[in-house]
Amino acid sequence: MEPIELSFEFFPPKSDDGIARLRAARAQLMPLAPKFVSVTFGAGGSTQQGTLDTVLEIARTGVDAAPHLSCIGASRAGLADILDTYRAQGISHIVALRGDMPSGMVEMGDFRYAAHLVAFIREHAGDAFRIEVAAYPEYHPQSRSPRLDLEHFVAKVRAGADAAISQYFFNADAYFRFVDEVRRAGVDVPITPGIMPITNYSQLIRFSEMCGAEVPRWIARRLESYGDDRASIRAFGAEVVAAMCERLIAGGAPGLHFYTLNGAEPTRAICDRLGLHAPGQ
Ligand code: FAD
Repeated sequence: MEPIELSFEFFPPKSDDGIARLRAARAQLMPLAPKFVSVTFGAGGSTQQGTLDTVLEIARTGVDAAPHLSCIGASRAGLADILDTYRAQGISHIVALRGDMPSGMVEMGDFRYAAHLVAFIREHAGDAFRIEVAAYPEYHPQSRSPRLDLEHFVAKVRAGADAAISQYFFNADAYFRFVDEVRRAGVDVPITPGIMPITNYSQLIRFSEMCGAEVPRWIARRLESYGDDRASIRAFGAEVVAAMCERLIAGGAPGLHFYTLNGAEPTRAICDRLGLHAPGQ
């Protein structure tokens, strides 16, 4: 079997404890030799320094580290500064997003959609960055229709994106259908499925409602039935998510992008079930 390309997503920690926790997670995950890692960005710029610091700390270890960058509420000049800083620091990979308007923020900024940000990155920095964009196999929650959402995704790629990472989902068929539709639209960039390990029932339901990911009823009912038994939630979660990953890989997914939430164990549990071990382990 071809080796499976992995990538891991982290968020910039806000405290010394958070920094220590992320370092511990990285120590456990990096032996799995991810193709790259990415670091989220608080829309509106709230984590600008934290994202930069985290990306640079990881890049110094020789790992391809891609900052996320969102355009909502941002100015052209501000985005140009951020891009220039990354370039000067040798960063050449970026995840370009619209982001969601933080509460209390009223200024839309100079760009309305991620496609505009992608076009701006190409205009400002040429091919200095490999650009990833977001994809939504179950469609973006604000999209007016599946057809329009697909068109908007295609527009982002045509604006200059090289690859996409999907929102998480628990239904592999949604991913396969989305990829088929994108291919029929003449777009052939790799679309890596985003994988959310399951660790906490109420948090999963809350997150999923916000981002428009469906938790199938049979999974929700089983998770709910475990109550506070976190070990059973994690074991069941690892089993169902690993089974979905197997289907995704068998069906041609180009890799797996894990939303680690800065913890190693849930991602490792899935990788172990997939037979993905660090060399020598
Ligand atoms: P877009 O691609 O711009 O799409 C947003 C909506 O606008 C969609 O409904 C689309 O159909 C619609 N649309 C697009 N173009 C047009 C048009 N021309 N006319 C009308 N409608 C249009 N958020 C963060 O804040 N920070 C992060 O670090 C972050 N990382 C993420 C990583 C991944 C892999 C994913 C999947 C999401 C991430 N998000 C992050 C969340 C993301 O910012 C939100 O989902 C946001 O609501 C949409 O961002 P987008 O880049 O997909 O937007």
